[in-house]
Amino acid sequence: MHISTPILPPARLGILGGGQLGRMFTVAAKTMGYQVVVLDPDPLAPAAEFADEHLCAAFTDEAALAQLAQCAAVTTEFENVSADAMRSLAQHTIVSPSGDCVAIAQNRILEKAWIRKAGLETAPYQVIEQESDISDASEAFLPGILKTATLGYDGKGQIRVKTLSELVAAFKQHQGVACVLEKMVDLRSEISVIVCRLNNDTSMCFDPAENEHIDGILAYSIVPARLPESLQQQAKDMAKRLADELNYVGVLAVEMFVVGDDAQLVVNEIAPRPHNSGHHTINACVTDQFQQQVRLMCGLNPGDTSLLSPCTMANILGDVWGEDGSEPNWLPLQQHAASHLHLYGKKSARKGRKMGHFTTLAQDANQAYQWAQDLHAQLKK
Ligand code: ADP
Ligand code: MG
Repeated sequence: MHISTPILPPARLGILGGGQLGRMFTVAAKTMGYQVVVLDPDPLAPAAEFADEHLCAAFTDEAALAQLAQCAAVTTEFENVSADAMRSLAQHTIVSPSGDCVAIAQNRILEKAWIRKAGLETAPYQVIEQESDISDASEAFLPGILKTATLGYDGKGQIRVKTLSELVAAFKQHQGVACVLEKMVDLRSEISVIVCRLNNDTSMCFDPAENEHIDGILAYSIVPARLPESLQQQAKDMAKRLADELNYVGVLAVEMFVVGDDAQLVVNEIAPRPHNSGHHTINACVTDQFQQQVRLMCGLNPGDTSLLSPCTMANILGDVWGEDGSEPNWLPLQQHAASHLHLYGKKSARKGRKMGHFTTLAQDANQAYQWAQDLHAQLKK
């Protein structure tokens, strides 16, 4: 269905997924006066605490989907929902982003083809769907990373390979599922751009975030990115072009690599939703990425994306909890004059599990990054 008039409060909005992204979406939507229905099979879903209604059922549950279909508009907080469920919801209500866009983001093979179709660079890659696809020609993509086409996140589903025999072994280790072999690029830094798009004439980008990963998981996002203004503008133009090519409606995150001495921008992957590297927007931008998602799914123009202060977002993983489950040392963080703590209300802390984040604001990005590192270091007792 298409939006003819904007959806206004107290309309009911639905979201597929009730993790931390769903939780922050719910907080934004509730604050803006909407009612929120969350579908998530986990009885302890972080979003449930704030939602008006929690449909605790599988993402493909017919009865639950029928209830979501009653909402004025529906969105998603993660890409591994059934694109078909989204397409069938779209017969009854407004769904943004579309199931088609989500299907593309779910599959690295489709995703890379679309990135190239938009005229943008990706790392050199080869699609490997069966063992016979591996040949001498694959040498051109070594050393590389063999990534499963679907269901990868936080570095999962990836094996680094240097030789053809390692490649064959890695493909077997992935149990023969469709993969993409991507050549290792000379990464100088990683950035992401979040685009907020209503239609062809109306889209805006947040300033790029500079992302630092530790063990394949985002650790810090530094904004503004410490890159030349012209490169940042180029990144925003690329993200916008990709969103236009997809005719995307909503918040789209585009991860990019800055490659080589000549700082070439290469698109890595997209996420059809608000993104971890956009959490700083809650405290440091005129409009945050979750408010944007609410606005766009309701057919409203995106809000101003301007950055109000240099900042750094730091993820808080379960690793900083004690072995016995004891709380981290929150005091320095809570007492700091320019830090904002966000906890997701997850009951059990596991290694690598995203439990919360904090954002520091400062006169310049280096200072914010320094504070974030210092405060993070003090979390572990
Ligand atoms: P995920 O879905 O797990 O986020 P990514 O494709 O973004 O998977 O890869 C995770 C990280 O691995 C990237 O953020 C980057 O640091 C590194 N990486 C991925 N692909 C390449 C590549 N072709 N060359 C160099 N580093 C890479
Ligand atoms: Mg990634």
